[in-house]
Amino acid sequence: MADIHNVVIIGSGPAGLTAAIYLARANLKPVVIAGLEFGGQLMNTTEVENFPGFPEGIMGPELMQKMLKQAERFGAEIKFINADKVDFSSDEKKVYSGEQVFNARSIVLATGASPKKLNLESESKYWGKGVSSCATCDGAFYKGKVVAVVGGGDSAMEEALFLTRFASKVYVIHRRNEFRASQIMQDRVLKHEKIEPIWDSEVVEVLGNENIVTGLRLKNIQTSKESELSVDGMFLGIGHIPTTSFLQGSVDLDEQGYIKVSDNTHTNIEGVFVAGDVHDHKYRQAITAAGMGCMAALDVEKWLESKGY
Ligand code: NAP
Repeated sequence: MADIHNVVIIGSGPAGLTAAIYLARANLKPVVIAGLEFGGQLMNTTEVENFPGFPEGIMGPELMQKMLKQAERFGAEIKFINADKVDFSSDEKKVYSGEQVFNARSIVLATGASPKKLNLESESKYWGKGVSSCATCDGAFYKGKVVAVVGGGDSAMEEALFLTRFASKVYVIHRRNEFRASQIMQDRVLKHEKIEPIWDSEVVEVLGNENIVTGLRLKNIQTSKESELSVDGMFLGIGHIPTTSFLQGSVDLDEQGYIKVSDNTHTNIEGVFVAGDVHDHKYRQAITAAGMGCMAALDVEKWLESKGY
């Protein structure tokens, strides 16, 4: 008979790994389905300046490596595979990864969210050839070039500021006439000599030449007038989509696809808990995700105990 794990955690960002640290320290031997690429969104971040305990800042990937090590130190079993299906229809929950099945008494869903796209045909055509959602991954390719960032939130501001290290000019294209980002980030962007905002505008087409981006066709939302902007690359910073499609209706989601909670971190399914950005679309910080990972772990512990396990 297959092993029954006390708890399987799906996801290995700050939420999943914090849950793993707590559950491993509680001697519950958690299994973490970490994904083929572990670590979540911080793996695509440069310097993290707002995670307490690192007064000089820390690089995102380094922070995640430290969390992974900490979870492993207490005995969490990390599997670098993707979960592609779940079955929560009986007390013995199942998580599938290809041919492998993990049976568990309880589950923590911590799969996070991924960057949103504009859904333009030309965006797909030039994806990876001048269109990107990760300035920290691809910014260095734009030394001395002109780039555009789309969006008006903190992600867009962060990308624009990061790109100034390489690019000669950075446009920030936003669909309204004011940013949604925090004041400090807005101020840094608006004061930067290399950055120019383009207000009330949306990208309607990515223009290119064989395999390279040469510009963008923009539409002014107020006047409906279209114009062309010469750029060598476009970076998206327009928000996120929760990673919940593999759940295929097994737990209740809200209208945007984020996992709902019924009681603290408990979902509508007995023994299935949630933590981090796959639930929280409001705060979305590494520290809040880690905090919720801790809450989910404590809730799992109590729940297992209440069931006599
Ligand atoms: P966000 O705050 O939801 O901002 C998304 C931005 O993209 C908005 O300005 C939105 O425009 C625009 N947008 C959305 N869909 C669009 C579309 N289809 N076409 C054009 N523009 C579109 O997302 P975020 O910037 O990823 O931030 C998410 C959360 O993470 C926030 O709470 C943020 O504070 C946090 N965050 C924090 C940091 C940090 O502290 N260092 C860094 C990154 C993110 P509208 O404004 O018109 O809706």
